Amino acid sequence: MTVRVYIGLGSNLEDPVAQVLEAVEELEMIPDSIMVSRSSLYRGKPMGPADQPDYVNAVVAMDTLLSAANFLQELTRIEDLQGRARDGEKWGPRIIDLDLLMYGKQKINTPDLTVPHPGMHERDFVIIPLSELAGDVNVPGQGRLTSLINKCENHSLRKLVTA
Ligand code: ADP
Ligand code: MG
Repeated sequence: MTVRVYIGLGSNLEDPVAQVLEAVEELEMIPDSIMVSRSSLYRGKPMGPADQPDYVNAVVAMDTLLSAANFLQELTRIEDLQGRARDGEKWGPRIIDLDLLMYGKQKINTPDLTVPHPGMHERDFVIIPLSELAGDVNVPGQGRLTSLINKCENHSLRKLVTA
């Protein structure tokens, strides 16, 4: 049985649009998994330190046979492949960030993995693209997407017309 997963993508370094699109191509090649849909790309203000470039964000939906832990490993592998540095400050600039937002309806709390991704429910750059793909999905422990949209932080998101 496959599990529907949602992945949040973000980049604000080295041509962020290209980085996000490259990551989508890599995600399509994750074993035992298929791409279901991809949101529009959005540009928005950074979270955390303000002295960094704007972000480009998107969300994709996939169906996978992998466990959540193995899926996270694949995300980390793709981040490494694209040259993600792991020594930066929290919420500092990054070439690519791939977050496992949701893994089916499951709640997971292990040292390496928290699902739903902590904070996703209050971030417009996650909730708005996610709503393109997932309608009024229930975010385990947080509530329905349509109710979260009205409460999330404003990062002045703009939908990109290209790509
Ligand atoms: P952030 O995305 O909050 O800026 P990082 O990408 O640097 O932080 O954090 C990566 C770490 O977060 C990974 O080592 C991973 O183990 C942990 N993590 C916990 N839950 C998740 C999740 N749902 N998706 C992605 N990484 C997660
Ligand atoms: Mg991350």
